[in-house]
Amino acid sequence: MLEVSPVRAFSDNYLWLIRAPNGARRAVVVDPGDADPIEAALAQHGLTLGAILVTHHHPDHVGGVRALAARHGVEVYGPSRERMPCEVRPLDDGDIASLADLGLEFRVMAVPGHTLGHVAYYGHGALFCGDTLFSAGCGRLFEGTPGQMLGSLDRIAALPDDTQVYCAHEYTLSNLRFAATVEPGNADVLATLEAVRELRARDGITLPTTLGRERRINPFLRCREPAVRAAAEARAGTALPGPVDVFAVIRTWKDGFR
Ligand SMILES: [Zn+2]
Repeated sequence: MLEVSPVRAFSDNYLWLIRAPNGARRAVVVDPGDADPIEAALAQHGLTLGAILVTHHHPDHVGGVRALAARHGVEVYGPSRERMPCEVRPLDDGDIASLADLGLEFRVMAVPGHTLGHVAYYGHGALFCGDTLFSAGCGRLFEGTPGQMLGSLDRIAALPDDTQVYCAHEYTLSNLRFAATVEPGNADVLATLEAVRELRARDGITLPTTLGRERRINPFLRCREPAVRAAAEARAGTALPGPVDVFAVIRTWKDGFR
């Protein structure tokens, strides 16, 4: 299993630092929105930077990319369909990000929805999914359609149950409060909400999660469950023809949920 450390940035971002598994004292950072906390984490762990992976163009994911790439002279890998802050190795669906000198290799998945060119990185039993999937939630639809986002989440949901999912934000507690509103009868949601409430009270980190867990607690992966569908239909006040319609209703519902 990969050795991955969270680096906190801004109010609730996690920049993930992946330790090279081949014994080199080097690391890869995913979505460095800020360079300073990455420099501090590298120094703390006695590591040097080996490469940068980027999932999408939002400033809190790319803000530190230029400074880190210039200072460390490392390659940046990023989505081919989005504007990046510097030259990147452009990646699209099905490409392999091969970091051979670090002993790392990731398969690139196009996951449009939050942004149109958003990519995720899957390898070594781990998924780095940026702002596409969160624990018990998913990213807002800034650029894509509900159909695109549900298609992206369906592809992610087809990965193995034990996949370690590294999301880019600590949104788990508010997501679970929403999940419990959608599915008040889901015992897994209620038990996880209690555990996460206690963990967050101690400022603990709720990630990574696993896909097996997300399939049980995440309403956005559960649009085909009768209880989620019924909740969405009650919210919409009408019958909903299919899972994309269910997804669209609960995504809009969550946008206004406090
Ligand atoms: Zn974003």
